[in-house]
Amino acid sequence: MTTTPLTTDDESRALSDALGRLATTPRLLVALDFDGTLAPEVDQPMAARPLPESKEAIRRLLEMEGTSVALVSGRDLASLDRISEMPEQVLLVGSHGIEVRIGGEVTSLTEDELARRAVISEALHTAADGREGVFVEEKPAGLALHTRLADEATTTEVREAVRQRLADEPGVHGREGKNVREYAVRPTGKDDGVARLREAVGATGVLFAGDDVTDEDALRSLGDGDLGIRVGPGETAASHRVADPAAIGRLLGELADLREHLGHA
Ligand SMILES: [Mg+2]
Repeated sequence: MTTTPLTTDDESRALSDALGRLATTPRLLVALDFDGTLAPEVDQPMAARPLPESKEAIRRLLEMEGTSVALVSGRDLASLDRISEMPEQVLLVGSHGIEVRIGGEVTSLTEDELARRAVISEALHTAADGREGVFVEEKPAGLALHTRLADEATTTEVREAVRQRLADEPGVHGREGKNVREYAVRPTGKDDGVARLREAVGATGVLFAGDDVTDEDALRSLGDGDLGIRVGPGETAASHRVADPAAIGRLLGELADLREHLGHA
């Protein structure tokens, strides 16, 4: 089997240059997606583990002054914490930006948000009740209406019922997926997660790396002085691309080397 490299020599030189510039930033935030970025994709989601090279580079980065590391994942915070095997200093953002653990503190929903979540729950369960192939999934900050197993007429009817019920509810954020519609009480996106982390650590430069469509929200939100990396193929807003989690391991190692040599150790 032959594989086509995703990057040329010129591109990897350009990436090294960009890493060199980022390594000199006074307060560095390294924010990473987990599945497909730090951990190779596996069939059993709970069997995913970060590559040793990445864990070692993260450990080195955490020892440096003015350097923070965060995981930004679609997984819920509890499962992310369990399988990521990260030191406590690593900041965690779960559920696409909704759940945040910074300095041991977990942000959870306010009273207002809990009340709004109850309204969403009532709307979805009422519409789905007794409808074949329709089911409701509980999420940390909302609920999802799944219609993959329902016929088209049922899907349209149930979705319309929910839409009408929630149309005038303030602060309810809808998100369309494949045969699923999610309703949440907070805007959901990895861009929100990265913005909160950036503010929390006062970052002057951010490295973000991810492999999926939801990572593009974060990649698009990056500015001058940041560095966006897309892992694997696919359309992207990132300025640079690497092939796989193994390449992320090497990249993080290179960043740690550069930052050490530039006097931030
Ligand atoms: Mg991923």
